[in-house]
Amino acid sequence: MAAPLIAGNWKMNGLGADLAEADALAWDLASAPSPARVVLCPPATLVERMARRLAGSVIQVGGQDCSAEPSGAFTGDISAAMLTDAGATLVILGHSERRAGHGETDASVCAKALAASAAGLEPIICVGETLVQRQAGQAIDVVTAQVAGSVPPGAGGPFALAYEPVWAIGTGLTPTIAEIEEVHIAIRKALIAAAGEAGQRAPILYGGSVKPGNAAEILKVKEVGGALVGGASLKATDFLAIIRAA
Ligand code: PEP
Repeated sequence: MAAPLIAGNWKMNGLGADLAEADALAWDLASAPSPARVVLCPPATLVERMARRLAGSVIQVGGQDCSAEPSGAFTGDISAAMLTDAGATLVILGHSERRAGHGETDASVCAKALAASAAGLEPIICVGETLVQRQAGQAIDVVTAQVAGSVPPGAGGPFALAYEPVWAIGTGLTPTIAEIEEVHIAIRKALIAAAGEAGQRAPILYGGSVKPGNAAEILKVKEVGGALVGGASLKATDFLAIIRAA
């Protein structure tokens, strides 16, 4: 079985001084290795500095978004090759905060995933239903449609999927274990339909208020292959406790 993938999303948090948290994490994982694959996704301004500081550690560095375009007149955007050049090996794509706040669609996420793979990055493609959609009984339909539209057809390179119910992100709320399992099983089927063998292999992470106190229970669920962690990844002690639960 593949090692669980535990990825931390720092979102728009972190200045140079906060790299001390990454150092602390690396030091701890060097003293007591974990079977998990560990990734930190800082804001773009810290990707290169973090990657330099973590070189030689087991922690990989990821971006939080990339452009679908290789280069050109796209002020403020960052290409996949720029992330690779800065030392990133993965990139989060289609996070609900970008879908809601930056108009990202399944088609644009799919184009970004293709660009990321072409630049040698492993995309972590995010999907998830809103509270209104869950309450209307549409969670499975919404999420599987997002998978079908966001995962490049026949995707060959390595990628991961993250199921992040929008209503669970940063709220302290989480779905029940049965709900997580139901959605992850549906996502696996949709992934196989979209990407065949690669869809069978891709880890499906759960994200949304994962904390030291609930990580072990969530990480045991069928088809949960890791976690995408926001708030609790900012402090090395909390993130480490989640990694140790894997
Ligand atoms: C996220 O933003 O990807 C996330 C899961 O956030 P949190 O863990 O804070 O809910």
